[in-house]
Amino acid sequence: MEAIFGQFFGLFLFFVVFTPLERYFALRKEQKIFRPGWLTDATYFLLNRFMVDSVSFLIIVVLAIVWHWMISPDFQAKVAAQSTWLQFIEALLLIEVLGYFYHRWSHSSPLLWKFHAVHHSSSQMDWLAAARGHPLDQIFARAFFFVPFYVIGFNEKTLGGFVFILALNGIYLHSNMRFRPKYLRWLIVTPEHHHWHHSNDIEARNKNFAALFPFMDLIFGTLYLPKNKTPQTYGVSENVPKGFLGQLKYPFKKI
Ligand SMILES: [Zn+2]
Ligand SMILES: [Zn+2]
Repeated sequence: MEAIFGQFFGLFLFFVVFTPLERYFALRKEQKIFRPGWLTDATYFLLNRFMVDSVSFLIIVVLAIVWHWMISPDFQAKVAAQSTWLQFIEALLLIEVLGYFYHRWSHSSPLLWKFHAVHHSSSQMDWLAAARGHPLDQIFARAFFFVPFYVIGFNEKTLGGFVFILALNGIYLHSNMRFRPKYLRWLIVTPEHHHWHHSNDIEARNKNFAALFPFMDLIFGTLYLPKNKTPQTYGVSENVPKGFLGQLKYPFKKI
């Protein structure tokens, strides 16, 4: 019970912080605070954490047993002997590289896309749209991160810390804000970058998979940051249901 109050408090806190920011720096001034789909996304915000955390914990325990043979205590000791900063940078780059490829895979694999399409189904973008995501989409992504993290020997706290940082960053990237810092937009992912990822405009499809550094998209040929242009459309071509339960069931429906 306490945990659900915590989620309510988090939702309230983000609402209080982002509502004025989105008014002041609005990319789309006409967009309503309580835009279509906000209740669905608020439900995800309140419930997803419990579903994702409990199932990913079980998966992590199973993977830890299955992949145990890959572990070299000597190698892990060398990793742990490095300075905290070096470990932080290595873990950050590892997360970004793995995240990029998992994200790209979740768009190219028809099976994974059914789950990831739920996240892309918002027709308007704001901070709350970040919460929309099928729990299995998030669980698969975590399982994908976990094995290399575990084998290399970064501890669970580091992984937990990054999951938290990426969640906060995700809320900012979806927000209805216009930031176009001249050079920074090429160095660090901004809402502009991730909004193009959510666009259904033909020229923007399958672009901008990075979560932190646009150079990942640049290296692998998926960067799209046009000058003086903003997305015309957001969403997907498929008919994803609008409600929370319908979206949970959506990937299991036969087409
Ligand atoms: Zn995506
Ligand atoms: Zn997104």
